[in-house]
Amino acid sequence: MTSTALETTPDRNTITGQNAITAQNALTAQHLINGQWLGEADTQRMNPARPEELAAVSPSGTAGDVDAAITAAKVAQPGWAALPAPSRGAILIAAGNLLIERQATIAEDLVREEGKTLAEAKGEVKRAADVLRFFGSLGWAATGEVLPSGLPDTTITTRREPLGVIGLITPWNFPIAIPAWKTAPALISGNTVVIKPAELTPLSATHLARALQDAGLPAGVFNVVHGKGRVVGDALARDPRIAGMSFTGSTNVGLGLQEILNARRARVQLEMGGKNGVLVLDDADPRKAAQVVAAGAFGLTGQACTATSRVYVTPGIRPAFLEALTEEAAAYTTGDGLDGNARMGAVVSKQQFEQDQAAVRTAVERGATLLHGSYDGDPSGALFFPAAVLTDLPMDDAAVTEEIFGPVVAVLEVADYEAGLEAINDSRYGLTAGICTDSLALATDFAARAQAGVIKVNRPTAGLDLNVPFGGVKDSSTNTFREQGRSALDFYTWGKTVYTGV
Ligand code: NAD
Repeated sequence: MTSTALETTPDRNTITGQNAITAQNALTAQHLINGQWLGEADTQRMNPARPEELAAVSPSGTAGDVDAAITAAKVAQPGWAALPAPSRGAILIAAGNLLIERQATIAEDLVREEGKTLAEAKGEVKRAADVLRFFGSLGWAATGEVLPSGLPDTTITTRREPLGVIGLITPWNFPIAIPAWKTAPALISGNTVVIKPAELTPLSATHLARALQDAGLPAGVFNVVHGKGRVVGDALARDPRIAGMSFTGSTNVGLGLQEILNARRARVQLEMGGKNGVLVLDDADPRKAAQVVAAGAFGLTGQACTATSRVYVTPGIRPAFLEALTEEAAAYTTGDGLDGNARMGAVVSKQQFEQDQAAVRTAVERGATLLHGSYDGDPSGALFFPAAVLTDLPMDDAAVTEEIFGPVVAVLEVADYEAGLEAINDSRYGLTAGICTDSLALATDFAARAQAGVIKVNRPTAGLDLNVPFGGVKDSSTNTFREQGRSALDFYTWGKTVYTGV
């Protein structure tokens, strides 16, 4: 078995331009197919915080690479499923431990290719490790039930069987945590996996693959094919040997994949966009509410599917809340995620930066007040976008209705709780929703009536625990199977009922 990826760490800061393509030992992501590291790295990824610095190189996979990876996964699957679940779990736990050992290196690579702060990246690596260890420990947990039968001398048991080969397609914003939280439940259930990570963040998924391989995962059980969505992702979705596909990414891409998978009745799980709202009521503490909103809106540079992007405030708290939120926004200083002082890292790409700028500019041109932020930055330089707080904008402005995926929050006034709840629910999305209030009655009512898969009371809309179900409704999610926690196992298995007579 060969392994060239990520073996040494030369002075990466000196690797620029054409020299970079030869310095592949440190920055190269390769395909992992049947236990072999393969592929000519031909695609460069530059650091969004340092435009001249190379962050990663990766190969552009082909349909042939996908075919080879699925073949390997198909061959490996029966043997993997036959391994006792605690033995499968032990490998996942060992891989999680390796991620912790390698946390500092992986987090730095993650910052260079994605742009978030080092603290956020370290937290993400820790999350990926914890997810592997959580699902690894479930190798010892009971599955299925023993049920009474109406027939004499008969016992009924239920079993969960693996689907077979799972296809995974993942986005750049949590480049190691999302691959981990899909891979771990798939593997512990006895499936094998082919993953296509996001093009912008190939190194993070490579680190996950290295940890799994070094922990002793048999060849072919976990395969990685890098490359373009419409080439590699499309080939993965269309292959009839893929029994189930879990996708996280934009709504448009997800809905297209759903059509492909539905056509051959393969199982599909989609986690897609969000336009997460928070309702701030008069009885809330304005400073605490501002901190909750700012953490949800500006943490992770606003590049989280669960990020807060619209806020509805009742009239009594509006002035104090806006003043506090503007102060909070100022505290989210931008900078290179590796320098330690920045509270907000770089936006992931020029395209995303321009999208953030356009959203703020358009809102201002339509009469919005920009209380904090700017849309003047030059997207050819380092991609630092200041936290933006918009108010006085029309309810139908795109900044209120469309996902921006940047550190931009729109604050609108509503007459009362009922009007705020109606505004929260007036969205094509339904991933997370929040309320800031001291009223237990209204918080309880909100939890019941808000149309979102995750409800946060006096807590930021972003930020999730790993042991509980996660997913949305409407255009945010397929709203069938949930991710994370034990409920994640449902997607990766099918149920069987066994009658046993004596
Ligand atoms: P994206 O949809 O552009 O890409 C996601 C993945 O799909 C990438 O790996 C990409 O290469 C692949 N892809 C693109 N086109 C494809 C095609 N035609 N066929 C198959 N695969 C294709 O999304 P992104 O820009 O990487 O991520 C941002 C989006 O992800 C946002 O909309 C965000 O809300 C969403 N997201 C959702 C969640 C969630 O849990 N709901 C979590 C994180 C991100």
